Amino acid sequence: MTTTALPTYEDAIARFEPVIGLETHVELGTQTKMFCGCRTEFGAEPNTQVCPVCLALPGALPVANRAGIEATIRIGLALNCDIATWCRMARKNYFYPDMPKNFQTSQYDEPLCAEGYVDVEYEGKPYRIGIERVHLEEDTGKSLHVGGATGRIQGATESLVDYNRAGIPLVEIVTKPVPGLGALAPEIAKAYVTELRDIIRSLGVSDVRMEQGSLRCDVNTSLNKPGEEWGTRTETKNVNSLRSVERAVRSEIIRQASLLDEGTRIIQETRHFHEDRGDTSPGRSKETATDYRYFPEPDLVPIAPDPAWVAELKAALPERPSSKRARLREDWGISEIDMQSVANAGAVELIEETIAAGASPAGARKWWMGELARRANETGIDLADIGATPLQVAELQKLVDAGKLNDKLARAVLEGVVAGEGDPAAVMAARGLEVVNDEGALTAAVDEAIAANPDIAAKIREGKVAAAGALVGAVMKTTRGQADAKTVRDLILARLS
Ligand SMILES: [Zn+2]
Repeated sequence: MTTTALPTYEDAIARFEPVIGLETHVELGTQTKMFCGCRTEFGAEPNTQVCPVCLALPGALPVANRAGIEATIRIGLALNCDIATWCRMARKNYFYPDMPKNFQTSQYDEPLCAEGYVDVEYEGKPYRIGIERVHLEEDTGKSLHVGGATGRIQGATESLVDYNRAGIPLVEIVTKPVPGLGALAPEIAKAYVTELRDIIRSLGVSDVRMEQGSLRCDVNTSLNKPGEEWGTRTETKNVNSLRSVERAVRSEIIRQASLLDEGTRIIQETRHFHEDRGDTSPGRSKETATDYRYFPEPDLVPIAPDPAWVAELKAALPERPSSKRARLREDWGISEIDMQSVANAGAVELIEETIAAGASPAGARKWWMGELARRANETGIDLADIGATPLQVAELQKLVDAGKLNDKLARAVLEGVVAGEGDPAAVMAARGLEVVNDEGALTAAVDEAIAANPDIAAKIREGKVAAAGALVGAVMKTTRGQADAKTVRDLILARLS
């Protein structure tokens, strides 16, 4: 532990130039594992989604899952990569308790996709991040350390292994080193992972949830003095939120600057990021490729995608999320920041479909980003699975526009829709939630309110129109919120003028 005070970020970045690199693992959402027919459902009972192949029992032979290969190629194409016409899987040999084969089936010098790039935008400026490779491999199982306070191996009384995840297809996306970002390195790293997540989500090949580990990020950072060679890099693991990507780069720049100031050499090692403290601690010293004794996988045939098939996949790629967002932002008339929160909430397609079903952009956005987003946050359920469809939200908005529901009643109807009580019109009828438009009933309620509040009525007669609010409130109360506030106000003013 060093006792020297750490430099500030501004101080560190004024004297050193950072070079960053990102390695991102994406768990594919295929129905079955990469080399066997086991299911891949998240959160299943431990060791219920396993078979002789993914448990590596003697004699079991793998067969590649076409859906995994297709998804990897689509990711490669979306990242502007060249797709290999012929390549092989490789064995990456190392021992780990949660890896039953004692090797990982991965790719080494023959990745399926290589030499691409991703364009990201930060504060209106474009940055091109080079992609070195996109390759296919399999995930490991999961170790659980129990009996201790922290869930870590230190202090645990026993360790259990769950092999459900072992063999789920994993795509690793490796950037080229990115120099020249200066003080913006942390922000651009975050912008890159955000863009990558959006692109992969648009392809529908993974749910890319960082908190569930279906998108995991390792961040490489090194520092050098201007004009000097690149420094030794460290690899920060366990970065499992977008915000943490930014924080991990920043904290590593500060830490390395402090060591370099002391004249200490940076060691090539992995480091663990701690969400709570926002800094890193050392992991293992980094293995080099030779430590893994890679060799071509003899149990699997080479992958030789037909160029015509690849061309078909390329032609069928969806619109790039960033261009789609720019187009929709214009159509909907909203700011960049509002569009970003829509994207972060996973609401772009939902709002788009709601508008297609007849709602106004403002109306569609109001329900998805208001009431429904709040509910999604509270319950931890995805907005898309919240229980209301774009069609239903469009119908709700139409009822509001037609004056049949006011804002408060519409919320109650939406609650019924989410609870599975049916479409908005049905919920409205069943719960008796329609706005009272019956002039006679409203006039009676208005007269009653005037009679009960003579002082307020007198003020309004004297021209103090603002006082009408209290009477509107009284009428809304007697009609149990089912009146249209503006109509009530108009009636009161007409009565007292
Ligand atoms: Zn299996």
